[in-house]
Amino acid sequence: MGQITLKQVTKSFGDVQVIPPLDLTIGDGEFTVFVGPSGCGKSTLLRLIAGLEDITTGHIEIDGKDATDLVPAKRGLAMVFQSYALYPHMSVRKNIAFPLRMAKMDQAEIDKKVEGAAAVLNLTDYLDRRPGQLSGGQRQRVAIGRAIVREPSAFLFDEPLSNLDAALRVGMRLEISELHKRLATTMVYVTHDQVEAMTMADKIVVLQAGVIEQVGSPLELYRTPRNVFVAGFIGSPSMNFVNGTITVKDGKKTLVSKSGLELPMPETDLAEGREVTYGIRPEHITVGDNGVPLNVVVVEPTGSETQIFAKSGEDLVDALVKDRIMATPGSEVKFVINPDDVHLFDGKTGDRLSS
Ligand code: ADP
Ligand code: MG
Repeated sequence: MGQITLKQVTKSFGDVQVIPPLDLTIGDGEFTVFVGPSGCGKSTLLRLIAGLEDITTGHIEIDGKDATDLVPAKRGLAMVFQSYALYPHMSVRKNIAFPLRMAKMDQAEIDKKVEGAAAVLNLTDYLDRRPGQLSGGQRQRVAIGRAIVREPSAFLFDEPLSNLDAALRVGMRLEISELHKRLATTMVYVTHDQVEAMTMADKIVVLQAGVIEQVGSPLELYRTPRNVFVAGFIGSPSMNFVNGTITVKDGKKTLVSKSGLELPMPETDLAEGREVTYGIRPEHITVGDNGVPLNVVVVEPTGSETQIFAKSGEDLVDALVKDRIMATPGSEVKFVINPDDVHLFDGKTGDRLSS
């Protein structure tokens, strides 16, 4: 079991409310990722769930039971932090065993659990080493081992991979995903890295300033972002946005920006004159003769792909194309946009308009 429900939860530090009333259900066995820019309240929310911070108002339920006033140790959750917080003078075995020794568990049972966790995490050969004799990734695995032996109903991870270098991060991402498959235990994972969120999550919760902007699967957020914030945050490189007015040109609805850039519109009931924010992902733009003319600003070959930044007046649009394309800054490039790939948002509120 490991269903976590937040009901009208708020958190204030002094006079400052960092979490306005928030409702969220994290399903049993789900891998849920909280993602958002630094300072948006991800850690605070996780600490509220863990019981490391008191909520200001509202309720937290774990498996249908009110856990609002339970101390952390009674919630059956285990937290893994960015800094591994291992005891440097203790062996890996003792570090993993620590919570069980604190709980005065029988030694034979402790050994069994520690060895079980070590096997799952490929740490069996390292049990007698000290943390200082391990790599960063192995140390993080020890910290995860210490969480596993507690057999929590949910794991809470706060940016656990931020201290690792890029190559190790990719490997550990896979390991944590596999661990989730094997244990089938609820995991709540905090990160500011949307790539981590997209690759690991069953369900992503996008936060901004303590407010949930959208909850959905990675694909849902990619395909139907609910507003400009989510659209710009999810996906890499970021979605292009052009503000403009729906105008009829040659009998066809077209987006015309302030500086005169004309972009093809999808089928829409939106009226002529309506101001919208037009969104198109760089990977959905190709280069071709029948495209929209812009001027090349920068070309960045990235091996198999080329990212082309181009502009027209004040509008900057970038495309990520499959081929290696040579284009000189200042020259003309034609961007082909399939109207089906276009996202439309209200010009004022930023809320999604197209389905
Ligand atoms: P994130 O993890 O998304 O980067 P945090 O949850 O750490 O964000 O912080 C959210 C907001 O709450 C920030 O504005 C931060 O300054 C504030 N905050 C966090 N902890 C405290 C605290 N103990 N006292 C006062 N303000 C805090
Ligand atoms: Mg944080």
